[in-house]
Amino acid sequence: MASPESTPQTSNFITQLIDEHNRTGRYEGRVHTRFPPEPNGYLHIGHAKSICLNFGIAADYRGLCNLRFDDTNPAKEDVEYVDSIKEDIRWLGFDWEEREFYASDYFETLYEYALKLVRDGKAFVCELTAEQIREHRGTLTEPGRNSPFRDRAVEENLDLFERMRAGEFPDGRYTLRAKIDMGSPNLNMRDPVMYRILRAHHHRTGDAWCIYPTYDWAHGQSDSIEGITHSICTLEFEDHRPLYDWFVENLGIHHPRQIEFARLNVTYMIMSKRKLLRLVQENIVDGWDDPRMPTISGLRRRGYTPESIRDFADRVGVAKKESTIDIALLEHCVREDLNARALRVMAVLDPVKVVLTNFPEGQVEMMEAVNNPEDPTAGMRQVPFTRELYIEREDFMEDPPGKFFRLAPGREVRLRYAYIIKCEEVVKDNAGNIVELRCSYDPQTRSGMPEANRKVKGTLHWVSASESVEAEVRLYDRLFLREDPDETDNGEDFLANLNPDSLQILRARVEPSLVDALPGTLYQFERKGYFTVDSRYGRPGTPVFNRTVSLRDTWARMSTKS
Ligand code: ATP
Ligand code: MG
Repeated sequence: MASPESTPQTSNFITQLIDEHNRTGRYEGRVHTRFPPEPNGYLHIGHAKSICLNFGIAADYRGLCNLRFDDTNPAKEDVEYVDSIKEDIRWLGFDWEEREFYASDYFETLYEYALKLVRDGKAFVCELTAEQIREHRGTLTEPGRNSPFRDRAVEENLDLFERMRAGEFPDGRYTLRAKIDMGSPNLNMRDPVMYRILRAHHHRTGDAWCIYPTYDWAHGQSDSIEGITHSICTLEFEDHRPLYDWFVENLGIHHPRQIEFARLNVTYMIMSKRKLLRLVQENIVDGWDDPRMPTISGLRRRGYTPESIRDFADRVGVAKKESTIDIALLEHCVREDLNARALRVMAVLDPVKVVLTNFPEGQVEMMEAVNNPEDPTAGMRQVPFTRELYIEREDFMEDPPGKFFRLAPGREVRLRYAYIIKCEEVVKDNAGNIVELRCSYDPQTRSGMPEANRKVKGTLHWVSASESVEAEVRLYDRLFLREDPDETDNGEDFLANLNPDSLQILRARVEPSLVDALPGTLYQFERKGYFTVDSRYGRPGTPVFNRTVSLRDTWARMSTKS
């Protein structure tokens, strides 16, 4: 199985092309895809889209999907990234079985392939510098100029290329280039570079190589070696497809079909690994898995579930044209999933004390609370109720406006799963801050009792002052202030759009059932949103909670309006 209970991809231009190939027998009915990350950063939500697409299509067609690390650029790559990528794909629910491959495993084969092109007079060793190659390339409106080394004899090319590999020349001295067409309207076809000399330590091949293949030279041939049938990539590679085709055709090897789709963009998020790396390196965030990051590990730490991310990827679909998805859709997907699964509990994020003057001192009364109204199997739990309680500071107003149905002097509210209380007196400190609300409770109104039906307009969540535990709660806002974080004034860079208030840390009080909450457990704090235990800072006994998302669903509201 390549994919968990995946919903079949709805028909789109990719599945239509696969269906056509299956009809015409182009790949004997085989469907074999791959996910090819470059291990130079952690995966983000855009990669999640690509993972769901590649593994999803393989599952739908009873095919296979490989994991292939595209590790052709040793300077920026690292095993830390390899490990995180594997963890994230597994967590999303996909399995590449034993098919874990590395482009670097093919360096020898790629070299053999290159020798073949040299022998066939289809590749040559060039002495132009990177700068000169650029000058010779021409522009979209002007053709390029042939390299003066283009017509070097085959024997000489072979000799030089072998010596390039043997390490006889300094970095940058020569390149190997395909001999295609400097007059092509497609710049990628203008004698593209296949190899450069580069002495860099590779995280897998060590110092075995001092020539490294370019992306274009490595990618299609790696697909071909693995017997990939459908090589799905993002739109910026559309202009590379003629080159992809040229290489496999001129080598006479298995010919996968490259298919391009529009990359995923999400409002308020950046997807460039280079920029995400800057946020990490400059300590703007707390690592790649900071809960504000668009990375899979960040979303996981934030409390997102694999199901919600897969659902999001399905709903986004595949397009041929770039667009930007509203982040509210992603939040909607996680709310829907958490609504069905999260345990309801009570936590007071900004506590103010309530003293019930007519409730016996020292008495602890256990109240029955529903764990999840959406899930009858989730059962009930007991929540301790005492003379001193905490409620949310914002749930009280001394001088309330017309539509405020929460607590105010002389007013009544229901405490969830407990009694109706009435505010009798407001106690302040010398500075005028409210420090205590003295209230009475009506013993006839205990939740679930026959007389409990007396109606009041507001119901508040609460915790016992003595029985609750202190917990740190982290509320997150968007990391960037603009929908498009790359849109800046006066040429500033994207960091100018950072939201200075994207993290708020609170000392909250939570009901005692949460004292040993474990990372990965999903909660709804009643009226406050969905939360999970932070996997880095939370400790048994002193939990730290991340808010995954608030309860207010702007997406649902937008879609019912239209
Ligand atoms: P960057 O441009 O930031 O370096 P990348 O796209 O080059 O990122 P890769 O590791 O090469 O990162 O990506 C692996 C796969 O994920 C590729 O097939 C790529 O097309 C796909 N992918 C990357 N970003 C997105 C995105 N935003 N939406 C959909 N697919 C994506
Ligand atoms: Mg890439």
